[in-house]
Amino acid sequence: MSGRSQCPVRHNISQDLTDSDQLRDEIREVFPSIVFHGLVTPCDCEECWGYRTALSEKSWDQIPRSFVTRTCSPALLTREAFVAFLPIYLLGALDDLSEHNTVLEFTVYCLSPHAPREPHEVPKNSKRLRAYAKAMTNEQIQAVRHFLMYVGANASNSDWFKPFIQVAMDLVWHSEALQ
Ligand SMILES: [Zn+2]
Repeated sequence: MSGRSQCPVRHNISQDLTDSDQLRDEIREVFPSIVFHGLVTPCDCEECWGYRTALSEKSWDQIPRSFVTRTCSPALLTREAFVAFLPIYLLGALDDLSEHNTVLEFTVYCLSPHAPREPHEVPKNSKRLRAYAKAMTNEQIQAVRHFLMYVGANASNSDWFKPFIQVAMDLVWHSEALQ
């Protein structure tokens, strides 16, 4: 028995904090800060123009938290913009693992082939998401896996997320996604 873990509860809490910090560091490391010059959204409706105005010619670490909170997920972005700006949503999700964090909720949905509220239907999104994964490095896919596993283990409504996370990891976010 280790002398450091006299209190199992405290030990678990500090373990979780360490994991969260490590995960944040991993995300910051594998998604480089690069100014995005490409097309932000495939469509030019008013909502999509909001994304274009905010994200064009910016790197992910220049984007204010208020934009992340307002938009909730990168679901409307082109494949290239999705890869470039996914880290702001992953980090925004990790800021608050409670059921009140809509960034957490919608980012998990947008990484999963399941549509919300239809968890038992045949996954519709896996082809699109696999194309997104193909545009990412192995390390980035691994970071998404770590994010999903962390949410599945630590989010306050992890039981709700688990079916989405399981399908997402089985069908999209694994190393064979690159092949
Ligand atoms: Zn649009």
